[in-house]
Amino acid sequence: PGKKVLIVYAHQEPKSFNGALLKIAVEELTKQGCSVTVSDLYAMQFEPRATRNDIVGEPRQNMPCSKSCKPPIRYQKAEKSLPETFPMLNNPSSQSVLMGEFPLFWFNMPAILKGWMDRVLVQGFAYDLSKVYDGGLLQDKLSLFSFTTGGSQEMYSKESIGGDIRYVLWPMQHGIMHFFGVQVLEPHICYAPENVSEEKRKEMLAAWTQRLKTLWKEEPIDCSPEWYFK
Ligand code: FAD
Ligand code: ZN
Repeated sequence: PGKKVLIVYAHQEPKSFNGALLKIAVEELTKQGCSVTVSDLYAMQFEPRATRNDIVGEPRQNMPCSKSCKPPIRYQKAEKSLPETFPMLNNPSSQSVLMGEFPLFWFNMPAILKGWMDRVLVQGFAYDLSKVYDGGLLQDKLSLFSFTTGGSQEMYSKESIGGDIRYVLWPMQHGIMHFFGVQVLEPHICYAPENVSEEKRKEMLAAWTQRLKTLWKEEPIDCSPEWYFK
């Protein structure tokens, strides 16, 4: 009870495998009594570009930011379009997890989700350049990236052509979440749902449901360079 979940979802098609994973997360976590919010970025036609319009006041630097910038330069548009994000992230009294649900695009998150990171998790709100990584502003929060791939698991090992899947996770988990002080839970990866049998797909969905049942008991990973590159 009191636990909050924000799922930032980036898939155009509700009938997709990502759509199925999202539905499971909403159902399972709601059943547990968590308060679950979904930001469905394509459906809300989220504007991913951090333009001059995001900046209020004198643009002294090329990044949108909030109260700590002097003179006051504030993010504004993203805050208005996502009123649920801010109370969720500014809620120190309860456990919360920020979850991403998306298909892997070019070894990365889809542009619309990257734009969400750029525009919503801005300086002064999500980070302060004097308080980063373990000393970050969002230390009491958890994050979890759940995503699907086109490539098989075999393609994403150290010896294979894709390299270790952890290389892909480095910018998202360490460069973004850990930078804010957010603790990182093990990623949840469904490899190649397009290329496996219907039975295997059902198994992958069941495994996600199963994992969510004990989500709040999980220990965060040791999000250090070694975790990714050793
Ligand atoms: P879908 O195609 O929606 O689903 C797969 C199958 O699951 C479908 O047959 C669907 O009907 C079925 N399904 C849906 N719901 C259920 C259900 N409830 N139960 C059972 N079955 C269900 N891949 C990489 O590995 N690396 C990359 O760098 C990469 N870059 C890409 C860049 C772009 C621009 C694009 C478009 C794709 C890229 N891909 C890459 C591939 C992409 O990651 C996969 O296509 C995607 O992850 C598949 O997920 P999906 O949700 O779209 O699958
Ligand atoms: Zn880290």
